[in-house]
Formats: sequence, structure tokens, C-alpha cells
Amino acid sequence: MKIKSSNIGYPRIGENREWKKLLELFWTEQVSEGQFEKEMEHIRLSHLKKQKEKGIDLIPIGDFSYYDHVLDTAAMFGLIPERFKTEEKGLTLQTYFEIARGSKGKIASEMTKWFNTNYHYIVPELKNAQPNLGKNRLLELYLEAKQKLGIEGKPVILGPISLLSLSKGYDKQRRAELLNSLIPLYIDVFKQLKEAGAEWIQVDEPILVKNVDKEIIDEFKKVYAAFNEGVPEVNVILQTYFESLEFYQEIIELPVQGIGLDFVHDAGRNLENLKEHGFPSDKVLFAGVIDGRNIWKSHLTKKLTAVYELTRFIDKDRLIIQPSCSLLHVPVTVKSEQQLDTQIKKALSFADEKLEEVVLLTKVANHDGSVQELEVHDQAIVELTNSSHRNVKTVQEAINNIGNYSSERIDVIKRKEVQAERFDLPILPTTTIGSFPQTKEVRKERLKWRKGELTAHQYEEYIKAEIKKWIDIQEEIGLDVLVHGEFERTDMVEFFGEKMEGIAITKFGWVQSYGSRCVKPPVIFGDVYCKETMTVKETVYAQSLTAKPVKGMLTGPVTIINWSFVRDDIDRTDVLNQIALAIRSEVEALEASGIKMIQVDEAALREGLPLKEEKTEAYLNAAVYAFKLATSSVEADTQIHTHMCYSNFDDIIHAIDALDADVISIETSRSHGELIASFEQHHYNKGIGLGVYDIHSPRVPSLEEISQNIKRALEVLDYRAFWVNPDCGLKTRGETETIAALKIMVEAAHQYRERLSTIETV
Ligand code: GLN
Ligand code: ZN
Repeated sequence: MKIKSSNIGYPRIGENREWKKLLELFWTEQVSEGQFEKEMEHIRLSHLKKQKEKGIDLIPIGDFSYYDHVLDTAAMFGLIPERFKTEEKGLTLQTYFEIARGSKGKIASEMTKWFNTNYHYIVPELKNAQPNLGKNRLLELYLEAKQKLGIEGKPVILGPISLLSLSKGYDKQRRAELLNSLIPLYIDVFKQLKEAGAEWIQVDEPILVKNVDKEIIDEFKKVYAAFNEGVPEVNVILQTYFESLEFYQEIIELPVQGIGLDFVHDAGRNLENLKEHGFPSDKVLFAGVIDGRNIWKSHLTKKLTAVYELTRFIDKDRLIIQPSCSLLHVPVTVKSEQQLDTQIKKALSFADEKLEEVVLLTKVANHDGSVQELEVHDQAIVELTNSSHRNVKTVQEAINNIGNYSSERIDVIKRKEVQAERFDLPILPTTTIGSFPQTKEVRKERLKWRKGELTAHQYEEYIKAEIKKWIDIQEEIGLDVLVHGEFERTDMVEFFGEKMEGIAITKFGWVQSYGSRCVKPPVIFGDVYCKETMTVKETVYAQSLTAKPVKGMLTGPVTIINWSFVRDDIDRTDVLNQIALAIRSEVEALEASGIKMIQVDEAALREGLPLKEEKTEAYLNAAVYAFKLATSSVEADTQIHTHMCYSNFDDIIHAIDALDADVISIETSRSHGELIASFEQHHYNKGIGLGVYDIHSPRVPSLEEISQNIKRALEVLDYRAFWVNPDCGLKTRGETETIAALKIMVEAAHQYRERLSTIETV
């Protein structure tokens, strides 16, 4: 009677992001389709081999993708958007990528966040969809692993109910029809896999951890009974992750052979339910005990206790140990990190190391290894926790006495008065969101400096020259509030991560964000604070060049924490407040240096919303508090701006209002007027800039278009509160198009101003 080990999914990108590079070579036609397929196979197999060598018993098959697993599942069942359908049978590689990335004349499918991760999936469009089984890709991949590596893998597929719930373009009645037509197709896939020898099939149904209703649970009862009847000999694992089940008792009774639960997140609710309601003796429990979402080593001695606790309810041969979710959300291996502080490095665990943890824990739980082995393993995390990194007295005292810090400003009406006097801006003031084009040259100079080919002084001089160039350009365009342009920053979070104590930037800690795009989240490993100012030099320099106000530009605490890997030894709110205090000191330093407009970006506030509704309020309260902590110590006549890059904010408008920023800018152009409509319901009395043109494409907008956007906004907003700005930062744009677009924007604002002033004088 032995416990086994399993994995749910493995990162696609490769140790050196070879997957990403190959994709991009293929897209730019630098490798042929044949070569592409061959090299992809090599990457895929090497990942499987690695998992085998580590000793994982149940290795996932089919989690590997050329782009996205939701798109793969949709494609396998013929669920492709109408505009991409052709006479040809089956889906070509070209069409597959066109759905994801768009092509001439055909817009790409929408992409959206995968649950509460920073991974984005392609949203299937089911309008007029007729599900049919094309090529059984799972079968091919299963056979490939078996024949080429002798691996009896565990095929992984996104389950039909989650697939439908994540798709769009159908109504309630259609949903039932679609589900009915998908059932036999899934059964076919399962049958073929069974015939080929598959023992277990992992059917992912993460939708079960959201606040689903009874109707969905009824769908589960129906669908999984049908599977069981259709292919009784197949072993289905109903796999869930990210949070606990809402309907524990109903789900564990479904006619499946295995249930996969996350025992890490949601404060142990799955475990509590298990203890209270038991677990069926005829099912296998796939226990997600190693955190698949963070990058810290697990405290395996504690995990062992948890596993033993499970064995009180479940026979060992019905227990499997695995990560809490797919390892897609963590980087590949710590091994590549040569430059990290060893104390931190030793406490890290990326995908490969997490699999080693799973195997080690399984071994010791089976009494094939000693508990000492776990203690040795745990040593690094204990050492980091006891280290000076995590015991900075001043920071901890500040957090313990957080109530001593003000988090309220004086009334906004009063602020408006003094700010109007100080800045004396025209109505409809024009500004930008912060960054100007980061040209190849800017990036090249930064690289030279990093490599030591430029001295710090030379690099600084270069940045200064860029700032000067763009201050002049902004003056010439006639903008009212200027920015320094953010040329010294790679990324709005990484930049601050590099400057703050307690945050490390890895070299290879990449994670897939969408398609071939990867991000490298900073690692918050210790108490966070600033030793010196982070942005004052550049901002003050920019301000010295102009009589117009220059906005200081900071990233907010919520965004920094949401886009980082966070230490898990203390409360997340405490980490958040530590960062907020660090930003607060920067806000104060800017103000003390004469910078009287300061923008604190919260680009990631909305996307951090928890999966479960009952957690929303606590999240938003903490977010609002942290933002106010960071921004409330300034004088009444210092103007705090914030920016958010999304437009669907109807449900969080009260929180946005509660941030109490003097001016907010929001992305608007792509919301098709929905955002504007939401202001018919809500009265917003602070400064607000609804983006008047889309910065996501190089297209230069026309004067009519921008005027139209201003007009629409002014139908619902007070013109005295309205700011004119683009949707977001201009970092990814070219110089020529940026200047052209901004000139038109300024002209549109001027025309409007004139019109409004004639109305005023009448
Ligand atoms: N200030 C940042 C910039 O302009 C904001 C970026 C963002 O909102 N994503 O680049
Ligand atoms: Zn933005």
C-alpha cells in the first residue's frame, strides 16, 4: 500500500524560454512548419523526461500547448470562431495561431485572465458552434509519450462544464444543447485513450471553486454520470484547483474514480470539509499539498503531518500527492539563478524543485525515507525566516503601529479649491499616462550599462538627454501637465522591485502570461523598505526644464504585490502595507523636492479581485487602505493622480472612488461606450480622464474620433472635472506616431475648450 506522486501540469516555456523563442521564429517565418513541429516535439518530450527522471508517478500529458490549453480544447472539439472557419477539414496550424493573434482583416479572439492567475487564455466563441471531434490530440500525445519515452502518462483535458463557462456567445438554452453535444465527444476521446492504455484521465474543472450555483452542480451530476455510463472502464479524475470546493459533499459523490483538491489555498477549507464529511472509500484522492502558485520551498515536515492526517480518512493506496495546481504559474528551475543571494536562492522552489518536493514527501510518507531528510530540506526556509531580511525592526514596528500613520486627507472639495489655485490649469487639461516610447536605442543603452559597458554616470546622462528631449517635445505639442517619460524603467513593477529592499529580481524566473509573452515577477522575500529615493532625481530634473507641472510617477502598492511572488510567512496585508509605506516615503520625498503632482498607478487593482465573492470586500478594503496609506500624507495642494488600465469597473466603482485620488485616468477606447454609460448611474466628483484614444495600435487617431470621444464623455461627466489623455502609457509605441497622435489630441482639447468657454460666457 503505497502513496503515489503526480503532477497536474508543467511549464511550457522551457529553462531558457526556448518555447517562446521557437514560437516567435515560426511567426516571423524564420523556421518552417516542419522544423517547428520537430523542435516543439523535442521540447515537449524533454519536459516529460524530466518529470519521469524526478520520479513522478503520474505525468500529465496534453498540458503542453503551442499557445493555450483552452484554445487547444476548443479546437479539438471544432469550437472555432465563425470568421476563421474554412471549407478545409481540421484546423491548420496557421488558423490556430490566427485565432489567438488575429490576421489581416480578422480580429483575434478575446483573451482574459485564467482565474486569479496572471495567465491569460483565449476565450472560445460559441456563436453558431457545432461541436465535433477533429483530431484526438490527446491520443496522439499519449501515444507519443508511450512510444518514445515509455511513459504511461495521465492525459489532461479541460472539462466540458468549465470549458462552457469560460466561453462566450451562447445563452442558457444553447448551453444545454452545447453540453449535450459535447458529452459524446468527450466520451469518444476517453474511449480512444482507454483503448490505447490510459489508466487515469485528468479532467480539469476549476470552475468548481468559483461561487457556482446549484444549476451548475446539476450539470456536473448529469455530465459525469453520462461519462461513467459511456466509458465505465475509464478512471476519471475530477481535478479542481486555486480554491476550495463550494459544494464539497455533492462533488465527492459524483460517479468519478478520482477527485483532485487544493489543500493549500482558501485557509484549509477543503481539508476541513474532508474531516467533517469524510471522503468516499471507493475513490482516489489527488491531494494538492505543495503550493503550485508560489515560489517558496514548502515546509515539508508540516506537509507530512497534513498527509498523515489525510491517511486517517483515506487508505494509502487511494492517496496521491501532487502540487495544488499546474506548475504553469511558476518559473522552471531555480538552478539557473546564479546571481541571487544564496540565502534566498536556497529557500526558492520553482517547478522542477516543487516536483522534487512532491517526490520527497511521498517517499517519506511511505516510510521509504526519513523525517530528517525533510528537516534538512526545510532548513533553508527556516533560515530565511530567521534572517535579517525578514526581521527589520523599523519595518515591523511600523506595521505593528500602522494606526499611527494618517490615511485620510482633508475633504476633496477643499483640496479642489487649493489645487485649482496652485496649478491654474485650463479646463480640459491635457496630459499623458507616464511613459514615452522605449525605443530600441533606450533598451540598448540600458543593456550596455547592465553589462558594464557604460558607467552609471554615462547611463544617467543618456537618460537625462532622453528626458530633456521629451520635455521639449511635450512643450511643443502643448500638453498642460508633463511627465519625465520613464526611460529609466524596464517595467513598472520590476523597476521598483529593483530599488526596494526586501524584493529580488531573478534572472530566469519567467512565467507565461499569454501566448509567447512571459513575465518575470519580482520576488518579495523580506521586509520591504527603501534605503534611498527611487524616482526623485529624474522627476526633479524634468521639472527643472519646464514651467509646467511635471507629474511624479510611481507604481502603487496593490499593483506591486499583485504582480510579484509574495513571501508567505506573514500576512499578505502586512506585506502590502510595508510596500505602501515605502511608496509613502517616496511620495513625501517627491513632494519635499517640489513635485506637486504625483501619480500612483494601480494597473492591477481590478485583476487582483479574489475568485470567491465573499472575499471581495476584504480585498478591496485592504487595497483602498494601502493606496491611501501611500498617498494621504501630502499637503492639500499636492495633487494625487492614479491610473487604471481597464474599463470594466462598474462593480468596483465605489472602491475606486474610495481611493480618494484627486484625478484618475482610465482606459476607455476599447469599452465601446460601456464605461461612459456607467457614469450615468454613478456621480463622480473628482478629476477624471477617460482615455480618448487607444494606444494599443500604431494607428494615429483622427481629430473627429478624439472629439467624438470627448463629446461622449462630457455627456455624462462635468467638463470642469474632465482631463484629456490617452488610454495608457506610450512605452510600446513609436516616436513619430506618438507625437502625431498627441498633437491631434491637444488640438481636439483646444477646440473643445473654446466651445465650452463661449458657452460659459453666454
Ligand atoms: N505610468 C505607466 C506608463 O505609462 C502606466 C502603465 C500601465 O498602466 N500599465 O507606462
Ligand atoms: Zn494603463
